[in-house]
Amino acid sequence: LAERLEDAWKKLRGQDKISQANIQDALKEVRRALLAADVNLQVVKAFVKEVETKATGAEVISGVRPDQQFIKIVHDELVDVMGETNAPLAEADNPPTIILMAGLQGTGKTTATAKLALFLQKQKRSCLMVATDVYRPAAIDQLITLGKQIKVPVFEMGSDANPVEIARQGVAQATEQGIDTVIVDTAGRLQIDADMMGELAQIKKAVQPHDTLLVVDAMTGQEAANLTRTFHEEIGITGAILTKMDGDSRGGAALSVRSISGKPIKFVGVGEKVEALQPFYPDRIASRILGMGDVLTLVEKAQEEIDMADAAQMQAKILEARFDFNDFLKQMRLLKNMGSLGGVLKLIPGMNKLSGADLEKGEVELKRTEAMINSMTKQERENPDLLAKSPPRRRRVANGSGRLERDVSELVTKFTRMRGMMKQMGQGGMPGMGGGMPG
Ligand code: GDP
Ligand code: MG
Repeated sequence: LAERLEDAWKKLRGQDKISQANIQDALKEVRRALLAADVNLQVVKAFVKEVETKATGAEVISGVRPDQQFIKIVHDELVDVMGETNAPLAEADNPPTIILMAGLQGTGKTTATAKLALFLQKQKRSCLMVATDVYRPAAIDQLITLGKQIKVPVFEMGSDANPVEIARQGVAQATEQGIDTVIVDTAGRLQIDADMMGELAQIKKAVQPHDTLLVVDAMTGQEAANLTRTFHEEIGITGAILTKMDGDSRGGAALSVRSISGKPIKFVGVGEKVEALQPFYPDRIASRILGMGDVLTLVEKAQEEIDMADAAQMQAKILEARFDFNDFLKQMRLLKNMGSLGGVLKLIPGMNKLSGADLEKGEVELKRTEAMINSMTKQERENPDLLAKSPPRRRRVANGSGRLERDVSELVTKFTRMRGMMKQMGQGGMPGMGGGMPG
């Protein structure tokens, strides 16, 4: 399958444009990959449609192979849909925080209860685990055994008690003892059934949990979507735990759970041991769903090339004096992420000689400049001459950005002068610079 995906990318590779026509094959393969990863069909359809729109509308970046650009769009969309990394557990303002575990039988609720307790304990948060599964003979013992192993107390009332009552009293005990977090383990059924849902709803109503976590076995496949929908509609979940990700499942359930409930996957279970709990990393699962171990590398490479192409384009604009306020703003925002103004200007040929007090006026100056550019119209940004010629335009920009007309004048003059200088340096051909330029 990964090979077919490769083939589809390869076909795209020869193209110089991403178009509706030439991505159809690639889209088909994405669809196939998602279905093979057990993502629910409806979810797949919506996803592929979204990717098609984004890919078709995407500006083709010169210097970046269309297949790379496409794979990045697919990957980014997957990551986007799957949401936050490491969404935290709820923390009540007034402890105890109450976490309710929900899910079908055998998905790993009891194991996950202990895993969470251990995780919280490592953060110095005290826990109480509450055993409400009174149906399976060994269920209470299972939790007690796990509790001993991780040294976390278990609240239980035997198997004759009422689960709602157990939950209520468990929480009461935690409150009394000043325990930080109560995790209520519940009984599951093999299939969704009205009794189980009814009981869960009653427990939820009785203890008012801060987090209701749906535990989903990653091997569940297509059914994960229905399961999530039912639990979310009937109980209301606030997050999910995806278990058994140490198996060979591709993790498509993650996409289904997230896109159907809109709630984050908070943790991933990766083994039977109590330590086998990991935060959820959407980018890792995205690669796994696409079924290519090296997708991430590909995506990184695409990003690099996109950055390079962007830089090359910017440089060409500078040399041809097509550099406008939009480009300037873009560069400024980059600077903000990167550090100093001087540092980036040094990347422009010849600018290393110009760095210094004149160009580096600090954060305040940057902010003012950005505010002024933000107050310009699209045309003004593209054509700074409009501002140079029109005092009313300058006054409007000044008003909009809380500066004086004089400041706007100065910005435009400086900008025009800088652009002229850049152009001259470009044409003058700085000695020894020619060979080192990308593109
Ligand atoms: P519950 O019925 O939902 O409470 O499920 P359990 O916690 O009893 O787990 C059912 C089985 O799945 C047990 O054998 C667990 O050891 C196993 N299990 C739970 N989580 C994981 C996991 O992340 N990976 C693997 N490989 N097995 C798990
Ligand atoms: Mg259990």
